[in-house]
Amino acid sequence: MEKKPHYICVYCGSSSGKGGAYLAAAYELGRTMAEQDIGLVYGGASIGVMGAVADAVLASGGEVIGVIPEVLARKEVAHYGLTDLKIVKSMHERKSLMEELSQGFIALPGGLGTLEELFEILTWSQLGLHQKPIGLLNIQGYFDQLIGFINHSVEQQFVKAEQRNMLLVDSQAELLLEQMATYKAPTGEKWLSSSES
Ligand code: AMP
Repeated sequence: MEKKPHYICVYCGSSSGKGGAYLAAAYELGRTMAEQDIGLVYGGASIGVMGAVADAVLASGGEVIGVIPEVLARKEVAHYGLTDLKIVKSMHERKSLMEELSQGFIALPGGLGTLEELFEILTWSQLGLHQKPIGLLNIQGYFDQLIGFINHSVEQQFVKAEQRNMLLVDSQAELLLEQMATYKAPTGEKWLSSSES
C-alpha cells in the first residue's frame, strides 16, 4: 500500500475569486484531506480561498498549521482558530518553513502570490532540492492557459517534458491526491541536454 503524506501544503488565493466555485473546491479539498488523515500546511490567513480550505479541514476534524509573516498577520487577517499558527519574520522564512513541514504541495486557484509559490516549489523540484509531489487543482479550467504556456515552453525547448510532468493536474481533489500518492520525481538534471540525461 502507498504511504500517504502526513501534511500537504496548499497554495491558494487570499481572495475568493468570482462566483462560488473556487470556495466550494477549497472546501472539497479540505474535507477530502481530513478524511484521508492528511494535515494542512498553508499561509495562515482566514480570508478567501485560504480561509475556506483551512475551515474545511478543521470542520472535518483535521489538523491545520498556518505560517504567516508578522507583516501580513494583520493585513491578511490571520486565522486564530488553527491547530498551530507560526508567526515568522519574512516571506522567505514562511515559504521555506512551509516546504519543510510538508510532504507534498497543491495549488488551488489564486493570484500572483499563489503563482509565485507554485513556481518556486516547482523550480526547487527541478533542481533536485526536494522530490515531493506537486499538484495543480484545475477548477473550472482556471489554469488552462498556464498549462498551455508551460506546454509552449516545452515545445520551444526551454522546459523538458519530464520537468513539465512534475506538475500533476486534475480537476478533482480525490483524483489529484491519488496521482500524488504514486508520484516519482524525475532523476534527470535540468542543465543536461536531453541526449545526456
Ligand atoms: P494571492 O494568490 O496573491 O492572493 O496570494 C496568496 C498567498 O501568497 C498570500 O498568502 C500572499 O501573502 C502570498 N504572496 C503574495 N505575494 C507573494 C510573494 N511575492 N511571494 C510569496 N508569497 C506571496
